[in-house]
Amino acid sequence: MSNGQVLTLRYRSARWFGGTRKWIAWTIGRHPLLAGLSGMLAAIVMAALTFVALYNSREDEFRHAMDNSRNLVAIISRDLARNVALYDLSLRGVASDAERPETWTLSPYLRQRVLFDRGLGSPISGDAYVLDAQGRVKASKSGNTYPGLSFADRDYFTVQQNNPSVGLYISHPYPSQVRGGALAVALSRRIDTAQGAFDGIALVSIRIEYFEHLLDNIDLGPNGGGFIVLDNGTLLASRPPARRGIGSNYAGTANFAGIANHPSGSFVSDGSLDGISRLYTYAHVPGTPLIVGIAPAVEDVLTDWRKRNMLAGAMTVLFGGAYVIVAWLFAFALRDKVRAEAELQRIAETDALTGLSNRRAFDQRLAQEWLRSQREQTPLSLLFIDIDHFKRLNDTYGHAAGDEVLAEVAARIMSGTRRAVDLAARYGGEEFAVVLPNTSLDGAVKVAETIRERIEAAGLANKDTERGHVTISVGCASCMPPGGGSAAALLAAADTQLYAAKAAGRNRVAWQPGAEQYPA
Ligand code: GH3
Ligand code: MG
Ligand code: MG
Repeated sequence: MSNGQVLTLRYRSARWFGGTRKWIAWTIGRHPLLAGLSGMLAAIVMAALTFVALYNSREDEFRHAMDNSRNLVAIISRDLARNVALYDLSLRGVASDAERPETWTLSPYLRQRVLFDRGLGSPISGDAYVLDAQGRVKASKSGNTYPGLSFADRDYFTVQQNNPSVGLYISHPYPSQVRGGALAVALSRRIDTAQGAFDGIALVSIRIEYFEHLLDNIDLGPNGGGFIVLDNGTLLASRPPARRGIGSNYAGTANFAGIANHPSGSFVSDGSLDGISRLYTYAHVPGTPLIVGIAPAVEDVLTDWRKRNMLAGAMTVLFGGAYVIVAWLFAFALRDKVRAEAELQRIAETDALTGLSNRRAFDQRLAQEWLRSQREQTPLSLLFIDIDHFKRLNDTYGHAAGDEVLAEVAARIMSGTRRAVDLAARYGGEEFAVVLPNTSLDGAVKVAETIRERIEAAGLANKDTERGHVTISVGCASCMPPGGGSAAALLAAADTQLYAAKAAGRNRVAWQPGAEQYPA
């Protein structure tokens, strides 16, 4: 591409952009509602996208809460699994030692050391025992033997008694007879005779507070909850405390069926006690019949989410609103500008005295209509109008009166040209011209005659003339604009006819019959 071509291209694209810009400004100026609405639409779409994103982050918030719950469940599970495993290990030791006859031949002190010196003492556990086949205390870590008391009716006893293969059993919570009714859970293992018959149990009691402390030590949020249950539905601990209390059975509830049948999972449910909707995440503790659940309140999760997104939402509304206001202001400012420009344009093309188009507008319009008629092969006609003896009118009545008559005449010329495409102009002084597009000479003469009659009929005084009132002379010219010709020749022809009308006695319309060919 040569330099010249590049420049031409630049010039063309600059013109194109300039033109497009003007077109947009013009369109918006004419339809400010369009600009305001499209601005508003853009703001609404942007705001909607933002809110959709914010709403999606709500899902993330729930996912995050569930992840958090899963971690907490895992921590509690680990603690429970480790402690249960430790106690089980100790109980296995107690049971196997209790099964050896020689253990029972040792002195009470040594027997005590042999049976219970294996980490059974910790803040979470109560006493540890060996019970005989009748449920009586045979030995205990504390040394207490409770003569006369039998625990043969307790589930930790009967289960082991009836099922040789049960292994480690975690009991239903029970009020401890030896600790003033404080709730405890027992871990028990069966002791067999050498022949495999039931010979009692080894057990250690765990204070119920141990389970409650596990839930208390984690942050559940202001309205959150948590629970530890046995897989048969027995509640060991819950936060907030359950109405039915520790030891009550939840096996029949709708939620528990799902919890019992799946190793882990999540669900949303309304708290039966307080009606608070919570997001439950649970898991079975491996190697134990325990299930742990953590349940932050949905409202707490949403409150955090709201706090974080309030600002983003408010900003979106604020800036979106500002954008809409600016769009409307811009639209109306542009409308005012386009209106002002149109008004300036109108003023620049209008004759102040008569309100008709001025000479400049007439010339422009004539050139346009000439080209259009040429293109469309339609006749174009012109009227050239001059007020008769206007100098005398001025001399008789003064210039001010003369101006008034000019305005009156102009009004009648205007009302005589009825088609929207007709253009009447003050050509200069007391001369007027009318463009009549798509009008034959016949039609032009008719329009001229109408105007002449109206002005004569108005009876505007001009006493020092032969007729005594204002009259006009009109020259008509018409042609089919040929290629290569110019409107100036048509104008000259109309002017010639005007002089012919003056020469023929004024107050008349003159034309050259058959002069519809260019040059006229
Ligand atoms: P005729 O055309 O019939 O031959 O006579 P006439 O007196 O009209 O002739 P001419 O065209 O020579 O005179 C035009 C006069 O119109 C000259 C001037 O005094 C007057 N005239 C031109 N422009 C204005 C105007 O704006 N206001 C007033 N009041 N008079 C004007
Ligand atoms: Mg004149
Ligand atoms: Mg005149």
